[in-house]
Amino acid sequence: MSESCQLCQSKKLVHSKKIDAKTQAPLDISSCPDCSLVAQKNIPSDEELKIYYSHNYRQDYKSTYSPKPKYVHRAGQAALKRIRFLQKNLDLNKQTLIDIGAGGGEFVYIAQQFGLAARGIEPNIGYSNFSKEQYGVEVKTAMLSDVEDSSADILTLFHVFEHMAKPHEVMKKLHQSLKENGYLYIEVPNILQADASPHNIYFKAHLFYYSKHTLISMASRYFEVVDVEDQGNLQILFKKRSQALESLILPTHDTVQMSQERMVKKGWFEYLFLAGGIMKPLFRIERIIAEAFIGKKQPKEILDQLLRDSQASNFLLSKRELKRTGGWSIAGGLGFVCYELLC
Ligand SMILES: [Zn+2]
Repeated sequence: MSESCQLCQSKKLVHSKKIDAKTQAPLDISSCPDCSLVAQKNIPSDEELKIYYSHNYRQDYKSTYSPKPKYVHRAGQAALKRIRFLQKNLDLNKQTLIDIGAGGGEFVYIAQQFGLAARGIEPNIGYSNFSKEQYGVEVKTAMLSDVEDSSADILTLFHVFEHMAKPHEVMKKLHQSLKENGYLYIEVPNILQADASPHNIYFKAHLFYYSKHTLISMASRYFEVVDVEDQGNLQILFKKRSQALESLILPTHDTVQMSQERMVKKGWFEYLFLAGGIMKPLFRIERIIAEAFIGKKQPKEILDQLLRDSQASNFLLSKRELKRTGGWSIAGGLGFVCYELLC
């Protein structure tokens, strides 16, 4: 049981009862009035977590993980979005990337197609076997503690960090695992997100509920921020500090106050009418129709098709760009000729 805040050590934690979105069982949540960190009141031990993730998590998959084509398709779409976020900020060619908690290996496979020397680690043997068999990528059945020091240029954790019980130790280990000038890319659910359904926020498996302020603070001893995307899920790209700071940089009084005001505003009204939740059933129907066309393809075929589609849409975009800039050049040229003739 955690008696004090894991970010700022405050003892003034405020407790509340929420509902686990998966099982509908009550879940004790604590919020810190001094730094705005939201966490589960009862954090399990490392040993309990290790057993849970290597054996029981998504038990239905066990050692014969075989996702439906629509889930591979969704994982592939998410992987492409994440690669684009990295591409926007970094030169990816030949960079060594390790995906921590690689799941079915979709991101590792897609990252390789973008020139990265990508591999992954995953505690669940069903997932890691699936990655090797379906995509031929290297995903070891391992934990973060098995990653060697200075072994990656880029580390990625997608929907993994919120499951980790000792975030400070994890940050230290991530810092050690990266080479000099390395990058850390974390994606977690965003507790301040407006378009998350109020009955789909708290999960027994999620130990911490980060906002951009609390995640940046949690990383601040070892990492500085490069880019943040917080519409929807929270995505942050960090750069390794060459030397760790003496202590954390805590959220400012203003950001704590702002976060608390946001938490009060969150609810059904905001979700449905201000954040567009009322339209979600329509998007779901659209997705069901789109996914009906995936058919019974093999996982690798699905990802390859997504890659081809994304290259084609990039090509069309660049042609359109060219047309537009070309158009402006012709207009500019004509303007210049008119000016020369008239003056
Ligand atoms: Zn705190």
